[in-house]
Amino acid sequence: MPECIFCKIVAGTIPAERVYEDEKTLAFLDITPVNPGHTLVIPKKHAADVFEIEEDEWKAVMHAARTVAHMLEKSLGAHGVNVTTNNRPAAGQIVFHSHVHVIPRFDGDGFQNWKGTPYVQGEAQKMAEKIRNANA
Ligand code: 5GP
Ligand code: ZN
Repeated sequence: MPECIFCKIVAGTIPAERVYEDEKTLAFLDITPVNPGHTLVIPKKHAADVFEIEEDEWKAVMHAARTVAHMLEKSLGAHGVNVTTNNRPAAGQIVFHSHVHVIPRFDGDGFQNWKGTPYVQGEAQKMAEKIRNANA
């Protein structure tokens, strides 16, 4: 995809601070890190998001994300990591080349995850059934 910024990073035509690479994936520092060391893991082969990516490519990305998580623990002393991915605009995706964020986290760093709301009585069962049916 000639106009895709992450394809350009894979091709080396725009710079990035690369931290890990294997046959199918590349990991590099996010330019606007939540915490220093915030890394993006991408498939080298263009796919827009989790809906479009081939299963083997996705497996490779998740494998690399796990490796990067260990690297951030070892190199930075991260106490934890968030492994997260935004897919499509409704979910906050800005760059439409599939990617996984691996964000190093430290005790007391102050970032908060989403706040959930409990289901009302009976709603969780209905919801689970609806989702299960999609796999039928
Ligand atoms: P998302 O699509 O998951 O919402 O966010 C895309 C992420 O890519 C953002 O965190 C943003 O900082 C990062 N990003 C956008 N453009 C570039 C770039 O040219 N280089 C790098 N290294 N990161 C980028
Ligand atoms: Zn791309």
